Amino acid sequence: MIKQELEHILDTDMRTVSVDKLYEAVLEIAQNRIAKVPAVTGERSVYYMSAEFLIGKLLSNNLMNLGIYDEVRDVLAANGRDISEVEDYEPEPSLGNGGLGRLAACFMDSIATLGLNGQGLGLVYHYGLFRQVFRNRLQAEEKDTWLDKPGWLRKTDFTVPVQIGDVAVTGRMYEIDVLGYNGEKAPLRLFDLESIDDSIITEGIRFDERAVDKNLTLFLYPDDSTEEGLRLRFAQQYFMVSGGLAWILEEHKDHLDRLDSYATIQINDTHPSMVIVLLLKALLADGIAFDRAVEIISNTCAYTNHTILAEALEKWPLAYFEAVDASLVPLLHQLQDLAAARSNDARTAVIDHEGRVHMASLAIHFSKSTNGVAALHTEILKNSELKPFFDMYPDRFNNKTNGITFRRWLQHTNRPLTEFIETRIGDGFKQDAMELLKLERFVDDEASLQELLTIKHTKKEDLAAYIEKTEGISVNADAIFDIQIKRLHEYKRQQMNLLYAIHMYHEIKAGYVPTRPLTMFFGSKAAPAYTIAKDIIHALLTLSKVIADDELVSQYLQIVFVENYNVSKAEMLIPACDISEQISLASKEASGTGNMKFMLNGALTLGTMDGANVEISELVGDENIYIFGESSDTIIEHYAKADYVSRDYYEKSPQIKQAVDFINGPLMLASGTKENLDRLHHELISKDWFMTLIDLEAYIATKNTMIADYEDRMTWAKKTLINIARAGFFSSDRTIAEYNRDIWKV
Ligand SMILES: *Cc1c(COP(=O)(O)O)cnc(C)c1O
Repeated sequence: MIKQELEHILDTDMRTVSVDKLYEAVLEIAQNRIAKVPAVTGERSVYYMSAEFLIGKLLSNNLMNLGIYDEVRDVLAANGRDISEVEDYEPEPSLGNGGLGRLAACFMDSIATLGLNGQGLGLVYHYGLFRQVFRNRLQAEEKDTWLDKPGWLRKTDFTVPVQIGDVAVTGRMYEIDVLGYNGEKAPLRLFDLESIDDSIITEGIRFDERAVDKNLTLFLYPDDSTEEGLRLRFAQQYFMVSGGLAWILEEHKDHLDRLDSYATIQINDTHPSMVIVLLLKALLADGIAFDRAVEIISNTCAYTNHTILAEALEKWPLAYFEAVDASLVPLLHQLQDLAAARSNDARTAVIDHEGRVHMASLAIHFSKSTNGVAALHTEILKNSELKPFFDMYPDRFNNKTNGITFRRWLQHTNRPLTEFIETRIGDGFKQDAMELLKLERFVDDEASLQELLTIKHTKKEDLAAYIEKTEGISVNADAIFDIQIKRLHEYKRQQMNLLYAIHMYHEIKAGYVPTRPLTMFFGSKAAPAYTIAKDIIHALLTLSKVIADDELVSQYLQIVFVENYNVSKAEMLIPACDISEQISLASKEASGTGNMKFMLNGALTLGTMDGANVEISELVGDENIYIFGESSDTIIEHYAKADYVSRDYYEKSPQIKQAVDFINGPLMLASGTKENLDRLHHELISKDWFMTLIDLEAYIATKNTMIADYEDRMTWAKKTLINIARAGFFSSDRTIAEYNRDIWKV
């Protein structure tokens, strides 16, 4: 049937047709089938509101969930075409930035798979976050033209007028169906600006930030380093929430006075949190009394906190509200009065003394639930960051440890490993991830362990071939693959990994050559205005060249910085990983989900006791994970006392000093840019806000132990097997079942 359908759509020889036509035909086949898949219905529903949905490519995932992947692949192969041609041609939707957006995508997959009546609400971004390119070993930003090719977005008839100050615009809703594993689908509904005009983009990702009628949905997170950029970001959030809320009100127009019996709005981070005040305005306009309106809102909304970094908890000046929709200002004051009546602790104010609206405070006071995203993170929220709120609303605080969808991060990305599991324990784990525990029966089975090592090696060869093809760099699949891929941020401490590489460089120069080469992979975008993050990228790219140019060192050490890290690249890198770098400063990484993907694919974690690493280490036990560094309690205490002095660490350890000074030493300056390297060097010894140097020596020692342990291949394989077997807890099906049980109840 597939063969006939393909031939019918193509109406030409499959063997010679261009890849774009072939892609469109396969897309059509999938879309026709998805159209017939039933959407879940029900009385109660959940709306997952999020500024990001980092869904990744959808074609092969959807073919797989439709159960026709193998057939399509075979039909193509019989006609001399490789399905990977089509897979490579598909553009990756650029609708997110990092873990938070990827989490929202995994949640949509699990909502569909569990058959819950839920949907995602967000925005279309025509040029995404940005496409990262390296020029002179520096990050430059280009627009990401993912919408140029036909894809999954479907236009709807639903439009909303949105008034932004004195500018009137129209939002239109688009849809993408997210297919679950069990033959149901969940809609992702994204709003776009009808009057979008990309001709205002002048260069790279620069454009007129004041022209909101033209620019609102051009890019995700416009530059927040300027007043104009901040105002645009605010307008963008207002537009997102206006669209999403209009849709919710449309679906519930018959019973707005009982909305709380029918809906939950899950607010993903603070970006959509102004839905609270917009909903208040709408309910009042519907004739509902103020007190009841606040009650409805407080029973309908739920808030997920994703960070304890103070600078990431949004505070919007009242003046911004005033400029966009002045009628919201008195409502915000009324909400502030309510909050003040409940507590006179200034830390829980909705509006502070400078007239700024604390969006997290708004979300916590006027919602039924506040959750953190890993056990440690939730404890830190309760005991320090949000303690005054926890004291007020102890019953509202709860933890929902993040998860990942195994459909994408195991079945799709790692077929050989999936088959390895299936042949040993059947395929029940696809429905119930905890069944992976059955794999532990094979922990002493040499043949199984040997096969695991072989699978890993195959995946490393695949990655090596991919890197050769896409980056033009040759890598040795027999090296240890050590991978750190995630957004560039000082708290994630890519700079500490940089210092490890420099340390190893010196060791090799001093004659201590390692048994086996180490290849360090990085993949990471830096926010365009985050100067030090860009300096770290520059230092890594420069060091990569210094090492590659050194005849001795390059035999043992290599740094590969993959350009434009995204979901597709993650899918290539993760299955090939030996050492998973999860080295954030303890207390700073809310959860992490990359750590879970690596564990599931048989990498061992090198990490701090932070975020979900804590739960990973409890699950696998000390002997199956490599933990180092100061505890979150110690770190929190250092911040409280302000007693961390990086220069002390630099001066007291010759090893640290030598590594840090290499950054802007003559070899690096020969290939790098002085301004960037000097600034990073200065930052590390004079500020180092995220305490790189506090853990550096412990990090080096633990990584060296890990590298030595790698040589006992059987013991290493045993550890990876235990990691895979115990990863079931991190299925997003479990996370979503918990959200539904405790908060959504759909
Ligand atoms: C999983 C994922 C992330 C999150 O990684 P962390 O290590 O948890 O920060 C970011 N980006 C992409 C593309 C991902 O797939």
